[in-house]
Amino acid sequence: MLTIKNLHANFEDTEILKGVTLEVQPGEVHAIMGPNGSGKSTLAKVIAGHPSYQVTEGKIELEGKNILSETPEERVQQGLFLVFQQPREISGVNFRHFLQTIHQGKILHKADKSLQEARKDKMLRKQISPVKFRKKIEEKIPDVSLPKKFLERNVNEGFSGGEKKKSEILQMELLQPKFVFLDELDSGLDVDALKVVCERVNALKNETNMGVILITHYPRILEYITPDKVHLFSEGKIQKTGDFTLAQEIEEKGYSS
Ligand code: ADP
Ligand code: MG
Repeated sequence: MLTIKNLHANFEDTEILKGVTLEVQPGEVHAIMGPNGSGKSTLAKVIAGHPSYQVTEGKIELEGKNILSETPEERVQQGLFLVFQQPREISGVNFRHFLQTIHQGKILHKADKSLQEARKDKMLRKQISPVKFRKKIEEKIPDVSLPKKFLERNVNEGFSGGEKKKSEILQMELLQPKFVFLDELDSGLDVDALKVVCERVNALKNETNMGVILITHYPRILEYITPDKVHLFSEGKIQKTGDFTLAQEIEEKGYSS
């Protein structure tokens, strides 16, 4: 379970999160809907451990363990993953090598072994073999409808908005997080791309019982990923929680009512 209790966080001297409380069980889908600038992306980034924000109060617990003092890398290893609203381009880093590093990191963490130790272990050596990985990723990349040749490009460099989101989804599939934050997954996506990425999220959720926190402006994405709970987020906290009908209400009346 992911538990966020009375979370307050600042950017420089401004308080942006003003007491967020949220509980997500494995396999659940929570939609967080709110106006621009209300702090939704900040919430996702604070949970991922972004160093620009200072937590001043509250707790973030993953399976009962407070993770506030952990680094972003440790949080990822323990099962959190954030799909950014605006994924970064990483020049000079080959996409296939990047994915291979993610895959390898996941295996080493699970086995609790260093790369050196893993190379001496026959089973692990096979699992982290670059040749095997190349085959695996080339089989997998069509699932997110990206051409194989993208693997030879730099991470997200020159990718369109939709392609960047697909690249993030591919990373999510390799990491198999326990909980994923999808920050405006629908922004910059056409309907076909939206369907593809939502299908991948649903497939992984069904396979691994991943919990999903979907941050969105528009209820449209909720047609593809059905939420168990919908939260109305404004002014740095959750103001109201309901089911799908709350999303419909927001669609009809806007955020101000
Ligand atoms: P949302 O995702 O709900 O649109 P954000 O979390 O991106 O909102 O932003 C909430 C508020 O915090 C905004 O007023 C924004 O300008 C401010 N803020 C968040 N992060 C930063 C940052 N890194 N630098 C400057 N202002 C920030
Ligand atoms: Mg945002």
